[in-house]
Amino acid sequence: MSAAETAPVDDQTRESGKLLKRVPGRARPQKEALREFEKAVAELRQRYQPVFWPLFVPEPKDMFRWRVQLECGCTYEVYTHGEDKYPDDRRYLDPIARCRLPGGEYWCPTDHGPAQKPYRDIVEWVDRKITEFPADPEESEYDWMDAETWAKIRKPGPHSSAFWRVKLACGHYEQVCSDVDWKPEDGPKLVSEERIAEIRREFEEIWNPEGRTGWPHESPERDHIRKMIELRWPRPDPKRDCFTCTRARRITGYQRIGWLVPKTNPAPASSANLDRKKVEARLAAAEAEVRKLRKQLDDGKDA
Ligand SMILES: [Zn+2]
Ligand SMILES: [Zn+2]
Repeated sequence: MSAAETAPVDDQTRESGKLLKRVPGRARPQKEALREFEKAVAELRQRYQPVFWPLFVPEPKDMFRWRVQLECGCTYEVYTHGEDKYPDDRRYLDPIARCRLPGGEYWCPTDHGPAQKPYRDIVEWVDRKITEFPADPEESEYDWMDAETWAKIRKPGPHSSAFWRVKLACGHYEQVCSDVDWKPEDGPKLVSEERIAEIRREFEEIWNPEGRTGWPHESPERDHIRKMIELRWPRPDPKRDCFTCTRARRITGYQRIGWLVPKTNPAPASSANLDRKKVEARLAAAEAEVRKLRKQLDDGKDA
């Protein structure tokens, strides 16, 4: 997670600072944190023209260090713009989707072992990119697919597909493929009754290699395919399995470390004023002395 990636949370109703607590472990040395942050800042300065620096490049002197704990138990160091902002006041980056995570979540870089991706409803078709492909090869591209099936799905000429960035019900973003002429307002297309019977048969064959009948219940993926067959195979699929759900974790607590660049205490204003008054008094006395000496000189000249 880049130290310099910051963005405010849009949820204004959330209570700030309610997760303050003691986070186990120790902060790393300040110099090490500053060195890393300055490296991230240098990279951002390479990426943006100087005119955008005030917008996108944070100043180390403005950053406040925190230790956060996630629901998985992992602890990390994060930054906020100033000591009055809390770690869950900002939104962190999903490094795969390159989108912001929902408020209060953090991408845990620790590998916690294999996790099943849950299926989520697509709630928003955000934007899309068209990609062109050459004609598919004559021979199947997949080892496991027989020639007959390949002939059915093979595209003999150049073709293109739309790759959509979609927002899921969990608040995460994923990519989904559709036909180029499809628009979200069209809704998903369904296949014919004959075709759905064929799809059902094909999956039964794949899932029952020993000639057993029925539907083995083995994974969320199979459950999902079963559901899609019941709905006559809507395309694009109205659901998507979410990888981010297996990596994003809720922030469960945070503790202050301190400013990234330690603040040096300026002399209090009152004592500065006091010094100034003393100096002014001495200057006035000196000026009075000069005036007196000049007068003596002038008087001497006249005498
Ligand atoms: Zn973790
Ligand atoms: Zn998700």
